[in-house]
Amino acid sequence: MSIYVLRLGHRPARDKRVTTHLMLAARAFGASGALYTGTRDQSLEETVRKVRSDWGGSFSVEYAEDWRRTIREWKRRGKVVHLTMYGIPLQRTIQAIRGNLSEKLVVVGGAKVPGEVYGLADWNVAVTSQPHSEVSALAVFLHELFEGRELERAFDGARLRVIPQERGKRVEASKPV
Ligand code: SAM
Repeated sequence: MSIYVLRLGHRPARDKRVTTHLMLAARAFGASGALYTGTRDQSLEETVRKVRSDWGGSFSVEYAEDWRRTIREWKRRGKVVHLTMYGIPLQRTIQAIRGNLSEKLVVVGGAKVPGEVYGLADWNVAVTSQPHSEVSALAVFLHELFEGRELERAFDGARLRVIPQERGKRVEASKPV
């Protein structure tokens, strides 16, 4: 089941770190790619692509001009999950979401989320009904969706690879071909 993340309303001056962290969390926790709306940010895209070329896998990053059109088009291809503290708790919705094998777009907000998003989503999901962050909400959602299998995921074509250590750091770099 492929999962893509849509980040709404990126503002480079305010959100650069959070949106970068959101995309890196999406990649590390098993999503196939991310789209974002708001202001186009080439340096965000370059950062994510650099992580992909160093650490492997095929995670895509793409700018989308119009969130409404993106979500509507997505609904012809798969299902839409919107993460919001106001939604139905994850523990009550995750089984139905997991049981639906179509591709999914996971929408996360930034500043104010337009009310229409709640109506377009197939599921409005709360990861607790407390305010926190799009990064934590997405990480917990993906972890529950994949039931922990994402922790074992291999990233093909990596140039760098961590060799886990009890203490200290060890990174192996593949030789250029
Ligand atoms: N009041 C906003 C809301 O609608 O959830 C909080 C904005 S928060 C800084 C940015 C994004 O983080 C939200 O749009 C939502 O996608 C995500 N988020 C924050 N807390 C969440 C929660 N408890 N459950 C699910 N998503 C959450």
